Amino acid sequence: MDAFTERLRRLDGILAEMYGPKPLRPHGDPVGELVHIILTQNTSDTNSDRTYAALRAAYPAWEQLASAPPDDIADVIRMGGLADIKAVRIGEALRRIQADFGSISLAALDGMEKTDAFDYLTSLPGVGPKTAACVLLFALGRPVFPVDTHVHRVSNRLGLVATGSPAATQAALMPALPDDIVYQLHMNMVTHGRKTCKAGRPACTRCLLQSECDWACSRAEAVADGETEHAPSDSAGDDG
Ligand code: SF4
Repeated sequence: MDAFTERLRRLDGILAEMYGPKPLRPHGDPVGELVHIILTQNTSDTNSDRTYAALRAAYPAWEQLASAPPDDIADVIRMGGLADIKAVRIGEALRRIQADFGSISLAALDGMEKTDAFDYLTSLPGVGPKTAACVLLFALGRPVFPVDTHVHRVSNRLGLVATGSPAATQAALMPALPDDIVYQLHMNMVTHGRKTCKAGRPACTRCLLQSECDWACSRAEAVADGETEHAPSDSAGDDG
């Protein structure tokens, strides 16, 4: 095991101490995951859950949704925001899947190499690297590491990467991550970013990662030198 992988394992262990173990239990519905994530863009989890439930109630079969006029879909998902854009993206993605696999199913991804499955998903309209990784990890249990804005911020503060976007962070971390920690590390990094390593003012004094963290170390040095404390910015978005 190289030093970087060892470090990732150590961080995973510390985060599991802070937020608990996270066993991977894939739910087996990659198309549902894809549609749900498209609905999550620019809205809260609660709101996207409600919007997804409304969409499934209106179109119980994927085929019905794929052939529905975008305006009708948009009316159903209006509460989730960006309804017109999301309606078009969902319809286009479902029709591409139908054309490529003969039915609206992504079960074939399970038999593909991980990188081929990832490349296929990112070739779909409106699907970026984070969405593709979520579909593979949460639905099919494939070890692909999704990087959202929280994981991106935490990874940069820790000094794991020095990147300008979640997509770049994902590309940098993915090859180094051992398969067996991908899910737990992702989940606990998101929680860490939401609860402790927040964008505005990270709560370093109660963070067990302090001795592992480049940003905490450099801030401690700056404070010792009498400089003013300020948190780094968190400007990069993710693919939704
Ligand atoms: S020590 Fe501070 S900056 Fe570093 S990971 Fe913890 S909360 Fe974030």
